[in-house]
Amino acid sequence: MRMPVLFVGHGSPLYAIQDNEWSRAFPLLSSLVPRPRAILMVSAHWFTRGTFITGNTNPETIHDFYGFPRELYEVRYPAPGNVDLARKVRHLIGENRSDLRTDWGLDHGAWSVLRWMYPNADIPLIQLSINGNLTIPEHFDLAKTLAVLRDDGVLIMGSGNVTHNLRDLMYSGDSAPAWAVRFDKAVKESVESHDDKRLLDLWPGSEDARLAHPTPEHFLPIIYTVAVAESSDTVSFPIEGFDGSFSMRSILWAEHVPQVRAGHGGRGTD
Ligand code: ZN
Repeated sequence: MRMPVLFVGHGSPLYAIQDNEWSRAFPLLSSLVPRPRAILMVSAHWFTRGTFITGNTNPETIHDFYGFPRELYEVRYPAPGNVDLARKVRHLIGENRSDLRTDWGLDHGAWSVLRWMYPNADIPLIQLSINGNLTIPEHFDLAKTLAVLRDDGVLIMGSGNVTHNLRDLMYSGDSAPAWAVRFDKAVKESVESHDDKRLLDLWPGSEDARLAHPTPEHFLPIIYTVAVAESSDTVSFPIEGFDGSFSMRSILWAEHVPQVRAGHGGRGTD
């Protein structure tokens, strides 16, 4: 069976330790996919010059943020690495354009969600960096080389946010700003209709896009997950809704329609 593909909106690092509607929805995501042999994570928070794969046997938990409560810095997510899989990912991408690194571990884009999905941290986990030198079509083409891993029990995950504007972090309106709603809808429609060209053209093509993502790192994990999805996959949105101006939309591509709905922001788990 082909492994589904999952994009998750991770939101604030605090959701790793807070009890809220998002952290209550994250655990249910794991019920929508078969238990993976390993996870390949593309996190917004490993944005590099060059394409790298974590090659650690036991990757460290990285606390890549500042000014949060001490409790958050004490979180450890001791999932093992998988050096063989890291080498395979490098081989698929091309040994001349990627490399293994052991000076990175697991960043909060990975563990803040995975500690809810797989609290035992017993699924081997590697991260693939996002190469800031590439164009969006180049990210798409690079990611496509990894689609075969779906047939090998590997869950390919992207972790970012469909809208992510830190300048607007303190947004406290009753509903999300219009640009965020419009951009979120454009992403939803593009992935629902498997219109990869539309998705690839979304950023930075409009004022909405530039407001949704002043910088691209939280958008690009969507490109990686779309690239390894197939037009025959069923698309669903196990988590939807806004946290201020942040879209917390998660996207699942699966051969079969999942039966469980994880959550719906602001409206409980209907
Ligand atoms: Zn983030």
